[in-house]
Amino acid sequence: MDKHFENGINILKKLHDSGYEAFFVGGYVRDMLLNIKSTDIDITTSALPEEVISLFKNVKETGKKYGSVTILKEEFKYEVTTFRSDGEYYDNRHPENVEYTTNLKSDLERRDFTINALVMDSDEVIHDFYNSKEDIKSKIIKTINDPFKRFEEDSLRILRAFRFVSKLGFNIDLKTLDAIKELGYLIKNISIERVMVELNKIFRGKYRNKALKYMIETGIDKELYGISEGLSFISNLDIELEPLEAFIICFIFNDIEDEWRFSNKHYRLIDQILLLQEVTKDDVFNKFIVYVNGLDSCLLTNKLNVILGYKDQEELIRKLERELPIRDVCDLKFKGQDILWLTTLKKKSVIGKVVDDLKFNVIMGYMPNDYDVLKEYALKKVEELQREMGDKHE
Ligand code: ATP
Ligand code: MG
Repeated sequence: MDKHFENGINILKKLHDSGYEAFFVGGYVRDMLLNIKSTDIDITTSALPEEVISLFKNVKETGKKYGSVTILKEEFKYEVTTFRSDGEYYDNRHPENVEYTTNLKSDLERRDFTINALVMDSDEVIHDFYNSKEDIKSKIIKTINDPFKRFEEDSLRILRAFRFVSKLGFNIDLKTLDAIKELGYLIKNISIERVMVELNKIFRGKYRNKALKYMIETGIDKELYGISEGLSFISNLDIELEPLEAFIICFIFNDIEDEWRFSNKHYRLIDQILLLQEVTKDDVFNKFIVYVNGLDSCLLTNKLNVILGYKDQEELIRKLERELPIRDVCDLKFKGQDILWLTTLKKKSVIGKVVDDLKFNVIMGYMPNDYDVLKEYALKKVEELQREMGDKHE
C-alpha cells in the first residue's frame, strides 16, 4: 500500500485514540476514487490546532488563524484543519470569523463543491453526505447548497469550479453555471494573486481548453483584466503550455502585463520575450540576437511565433547558437583591458562602447576574433570617440 496513505491513516488513528474525530477530506478522497495521484492529504478533525501540535512531531503552523496546521512526514504534507463552520462572509472572500465546531456535517457544509465533500475514516470507510460519489461518477461540479449564496460568500469558488473542470474534465451543473454567469463580476473583488494561483492551475490542467471555453461561455474571461482575447486563442490550441507561456500569449494580444502580478524575474523574462517576439516574428534571428538573449529565450520566442502562425526558425536558432564565435565577452581576443593598457582613455563608458562594437562585429562574423584585427579597429574607434568628445568640449 502507498506509504503516504498509510502514514495518513496512522495520523487519523492517533487522533482517534486521543479522543478526537478525524478524516481524510476533499481532494484526496475525490482523487482516490478517480485513480489520480495526490500530492498532499487534507485531514479534518475535531481536535484544535494546539491539540494537534502537542500530539505530533514536525508540525508547522501554516494557517493557524483558520484552524490549519501541517504535519510533514517523509516529505509529504498532511494539512490538518479543525472542524469549522464559517461565520458571515465579507468582501465576497473572507469569512468574518471562523467558528470551530464539533460537528463534521457543518464542517462539510462550508466546503465548495459536492465532489470535494467526501470524507474517509481510519477504517478506510468513505462517508458521503452530499451525494458526492454520484456526482463524481457522473462527472458533475455542483456547489453544496445554493450556488448563488455560495459564490456570493466567496467568489474565488467561481474560479475553483473552472480549475476542477481543467483538472478533471468534468461538466458544471446547470444551476451552478447560471450562478457563475450572474455573479462573475464578483471576481473583481478577489486579489490578483489569488486569481493567478487559480489561473495557473487552469492553464496546467489536462482539460484546459474545456475550462477556458466554459470561462468564455460564462463571460468570466471578460472579468480577467484584458486577457480575454488571449484566452479565446489558447482555448483552440492543442498544445501544452506552461502558465507563463500562456500569459505571454495573452500579453501579445493585449499589452496589459502591468495589470498582473509576477516576480521581478518573470517580469524581466516577459518583457524580454515580448520584445524579441516583436522583432523576430517577421524577421530572421541572427547570431547577435541569440548571443544577447540566450538559447532558451530564443526557443521560447520561436515556440510562441510558431503558435501564432509565424515561421518556424528552431533549426536556424540552434545552428546560430552552435556557431557563435564567442559565448562571453571574455572570449574576445582583444578586450577592454587591452584598450586600457594601450590608450590614455579613462572613461569606462567609452571603453564599454568600443567593446560592444567589437562584440557585435565578431559575433555577426563581420570581423575575425583576431588580436591584431580587433586591436587596429578598436584603436581607430577610440581615436574617433576621443575626437568627438573633444569636439563637444570645445
Ligand atoms: P487539488 O487537487 O487541486 O488540490 P483540492 O480539492 O484538494 O484540489 P484545495 O484547494 O487543496 O483543493 O482545498 C482542499 C479542500 O478544502 C477542498 O477539497 C474543499 O473541500 C475545501 N476548500 C478549499 N477552498 C475552499 C473555498 N474557497 N470554499 C470552500 N471550500 C474550500
Ligand atoms: Mg489539495
